[in-house]
Amino acid sequence: MAYSYEAPVSQSLFDRASAVTPGGVNSPVRAFRAVGGTPRFMVSGTGPYLTDADGREYVDLVCSWGPMILGHSHPEVIAAVQEAVSRGTSFGTPGEGEVALAEEIVARIEPVEQVRLVSSGTEATMSAIRLARGFTGRAKVVKFAGCYHGHVDALLAAAGSGVATFGLPDTPGVTGATAGDTVVLPYNDLDAVRAAFAAHPGEIACVITEASPGNMGVVPPADGFNAGLKELCAANGALYISDEVMTGFRTSKAGWYGVDGVRPDLMTFGKVMGGGFPAAAFGGRGDVMAHLAPAGPVYQAGTLSGNPVATAAGLAQLRLLDDAAYAKIDAVSAELRSLVGDALTKEGVAHTVSAASNMFSVFFTDQPVRDYEDAKKQDVFRFTAFFHSMLEQGVYLPPSAFESWFVSTAHDERAIERIAAALPAAARAASEATA
Ligand code: PLP
Repeated sequence: MAYSYEAPVSQSLFDRASAVTPGGVNSPVRAFRAVGGTPRFMVSGTGPYLTDADGREYVDLVCSWGPMILGHSHPEVIAAVQEAVSRGTSFGTPGEGEVALAEEIVARIEPVEQVRLVSSGTEATMSAIRLARGFTGRAKVVKFAGCYHGHVDALLAAAGSGVATFGLPDTPGVTGATAGDTVVLPYNDLDAVRAAFAAHPGEIACVITEASPGNMGVVPPADGFNAGLKELCAANGALYISDEVMTGFRTSKAGWYGVDGVRPDLMTFGKVMGGGFPAAAFGGRGDVMAHLAPAGPVYQAGTLSGNPVATAAGLAQLRLLDDAAYAKIDAVSAELRSLVGDALTKEGVAHTVSAASNMFSVFFTDQPVRDYEDAKKQDVFRFTAFFHSMLEQGVYLPPSAFESWFVSTAHDERAIERIAAALPAAARAASEATA
């Protein structure tokens, strides 16, 4: 497909990047391979806007894939970072900032009695699984197709996100032995979970699920699904791990736990809690967390874990996320969902706007989407046309049909008007697109 607009500076940066970095990017979905065209190299962000290397401004509906929930360059977060940086960037010792961030997480999320800070969501889920295996003395892990938990070897089977985008069911480099302990089941299917426990009695250490999936597009849990998982885990001596890396501190003050109230044994966090810096965490039941070194025998560590600059950014961001902030984000999300839905309806484009709290995505199908197989049935080529029209008109959407869209407290009326103005042409492009 040819695009009627150009990004010469981004293109030349991408050429340079491609010479020294595989595929020109440090995380695959950034490369635009699912939608084609030149990935935009961003140079700055303010509020709901990003500016690229060619000097073009975009309304940002990616928000760094979730973390920028207050918009870009929030003055109080920036001030906290500057203050922290002025005292040094890493000490390799304990510090008060990490205690304060842990206290904030424990105060917000009732099932989290103890928490360990790490540097990425991947590290959080990898560590939570190791802890679950160490605690239970069992090997097998149940995950769901379309759920992405970072690039942990054992969890890359039938993952969503970039893996969904590229249609890779598995990745070379993950050995059969590693993947062999992973049981992959269809999402939203409690019978399949029941059958897995029956087939592997006494062998399943944990069931890990996205609290509400956003990595196959947004596919919320069916009523009772998370509660059913919790019950089945408890009945079979396995731990229920809720991955809230994406939903944590976004879908409510207490993340998805604040929405459905199902009490996990372990939880993982990232994105929002780092305020745009590499900070993530896992936590949960005190008796399980007590198995973690140095309190217990399960080893886990990190040179930059609890980094003072990252924890200062995360804490500043969390402290600004009060009830009013969530009410604002929910309202922005609701307004955008109805604007997008109306524009697509007007052009006769089959679609489903799927939401979980303020996270949402658009599936280009009018059939219900309950799992990854359903999600893959959408007309991806229509999303591609829609995406490029929005990009050309200055709206930056996730460059894949299998991702959540993210909004922030900074998305004001002006930003929403710019999105609204771009939607009719994008909906028309989607309707005229051919496979
Ligand atoms: N878990 C979920 C639900 C995620 O959405 C992601 C990233 O998108 C991860 C884990 C991995 O986090 P990170 O990219 O920080 O390693």
